[in-house]
Amino acid sequence: MTRPLFSATIAGSLPKPGWLAETNKLWPRWKSEGEELAQAKADATLLWIKTQEDAGLDVIGDGEQSRQHFVHGFLEQVEGIDFEHKVKMGIRDNRYDAMVPQVTGPLRLKGRVHAAEAQLLRAHTAKKIKFTMPGPMTIVDTVADRFYGDKVKMAMAFAELLNQEALALQADGVDIIQFDEPAFNVYMKEAADWGVKALERAVQGLTCTKAVHICYGYGIQANVDWKATLGEQWRQYELVFPALARSSIDQVSLECFHSHVPPELMKLLDGKDVMVGVIDVASDVIETPEQVADTIGEALKYVPLQRLLPCTNCGLAPMDREVARRKLEALGKGAALARERYQSM
Ligand code: ZN
Repeated sequence: MTRPLFSATIAGSLPKPGWLAETNKLWPRWKSEGEELAQAKADATLLWIKTQEDAGLDVIGDGEQSRQHFVHGFLEQVEGIDFEHKVKMGIRDNRYDAMVPQVTGPLRLKGRVHAAEAQLLRAHTAKKIKFTMPGPMTIVDTVADRFYGDKVKMAMAFAELLNQEALALQADGVDIIQFDEPAFNVYMKEAADWGVKALERAVQGLTCTKAVHICYGYGIQANVDWKATLGEQWRQYELVFPALARSSIDQVSLECFHSHVPPELMKLLDGKDVMVGVIDVASDVIETPEQVADTIGEALKYVPLQRLLPCTNCGLAPMDREVARRKLEALGKGAALARERYQSM
């Protein structure tokens, strides 16, 4: 493996600057439209590429600056979805309500979804780049079905479209394609049963690195309240990790720092790269490099040195921009400190 030890990366999203969209919101409204909005999205992406590089991260993302929400950004380019008439639906097992679009006909891609962002990213960093898309099971949990009448069938239909876009992203020069599947932590049995199969369909034929991010969600109040009900030990990963260990997915991301996930569950991912969450996204307190290195040290009891990739617990989208910047800095410095401490292990 040629990558640096403890290659640091983000889970995916980063806050949007105030001139691009409303701040501190999960579904922020854009501040402009048309050509002006397209330019603002590109400007914000460039800004975050530079910020990630300055922070010393090894794998760079677009910070999802061009999509309003990590699921709906993809759906906007899908035919068969009615975005005009959104309906209120409880998502993530009714943990919170969201206004979701409706699936009203056969699904088809209108064209490329993320070509502009991926090509911009590729053109402006020499580092490895990662691109994120929502996973099929999480998409199914974030739309209202008025057509398929069957979750698995609809997930497979979405997986096919995701696969088309993933293959195109790979051709754009993307090194790592990551699917975000927070729904895996909510519907654990279904995730192990058909969620991973749908994911396999989405990555079919890819030769780049394939990753999946599974988390306990953004640091919003509904999630903080939910996590408080999960008890002393969060064992959700226990059901789906064995299925992922048997899959063709190369990297799995999990929450670690400040979570109640028993760290030994990482052992279930034997043979995979493990993206260990060393940055808490539910708190504005900035981690110190020492804390980050300590979390890495703890994870090293369960994950081989070459397989451990420090990461954020989840996306940073709803956070304050300066807090996010400082957290990235802690991530980069913490990974560097961990290299000094543990590389001779
Ligand atoms: Zn997440």
